[in-house]
Amino acid sequence: QAKQSGRGTFRFFTIELEREVQARIALETELRRALERQEFTLLFQPQVDLVRGELIAAESLLRWQHPVRGLIGPGAFLTVAEESGLILPIGEWVLRAACRQARAWLDANCPIRVAVNISVAQFQRSDLAVLVASILQETQLPPEYLELELTESLLLPDVPESERLIAALSKLGVKLAIDDFGTGYSSLSYLRRLPVDRLKIDRSFVSGLPDNPRDATLVRAITGLGHDLHLRVIAEGIETAEQCRFLRSCGCDEGQGFWFGRPLEAEKIHTAVQNLPPRQPIG
Ligand code: C2E
Ligand code: MG
Ligand code: MG
Ligand code: MG
Repeated sequence: QAKQSGRGTFRFFTIELEREVQARIALETELRRALERQEFTLLFQPQVDLVRGELIAAESLLRWQHPVRGLIGPGAFLTVAEESGLILPIGEWVLRAACRQARAWLDANCPIRVAVNISVAQFQRSDLAVLVASILQETQLPPEYLELELTESLLLPDVPESERLIAALSKLGVKLAIDDFGTGYSSLSYLRRLPVDRLKIDRSFVSGLPDNPRDATLVRAITGLGHDLHLRVIAEGIETAEQCRFLRSCGCDEGQGFWFGRPLEAEKIHTAVQNLPPRQPIG
């Protein structure tokens, strides 16, 4: 079809492109407004110790409560937020809201850590450590109750800058996790250099468990690697009892996924503690 109609196709693509650019601009404007009108909200997903079967943390997951379209997940707006720089004020809001929530849990006698996703743009901001320190101070959250989830892609370029930032964050006493571990461009050298606490095995390796032999091998290898480096290992995207049992048999320390609980409103995290699925024998 494209071959038949040379100029027509060109015009078609131009119109498409134009439309896309317009849609982006509209979304950017809406996101800016959403920030002002406080339409962002956080859901929290349980992270569970696989050995003790206890709730140890919750990952904060950003949502946009759109006045017309309802609750929108980050997949629909994160790219535009990042490209427009709006992720900086949004990310700051997320950090503050998550820390405030973790402090409230502490006060309610529910001492669990909160994990916060950090985007590349936030990380490239050299004052991230200063921001985190001031938010911890402001919310009175002890640093060990905050974990920052960083992706591999963010750590890979061997930039001294990012090494300094990681060191500064680690010195504050906050925890650091490598999110979606295994999906990045795999140079593992940063693991040797950086003070990371936790590897988070990506969902894509978990979904094929326990039957897919390659996934099983990879999950065992990642767990072994993490433990050899004295890191805790958590698996994301656990949906079934079988996946959970397999991960426990591999020695994986912690887990997160629909099997333990979907992302929930903060108030429901308390009840999630009581409603965790019973631990399965490793067998
Ligand atoms: P992520 O950090 O890897 O978060 C896990 C995603 O997997 C979440 O999607 C969660 O709802 C989903 N999930 C959890 N358990 C299961 C499961 O058992 N099965 C399946 N199929 N999915 C599961 P969500 O909330 O749509 O977030 C998508 C991504 O958006 C996150 O991936 C993270 O990279 C990013 N994100 C979320 N919140 C924030 C934020 O506050 N700031 C930044 N920068 N990024 C965020
Ligand atoms: Mg994450
Ligand atoms: Mg993840
Ligand atoms: Mg993921």
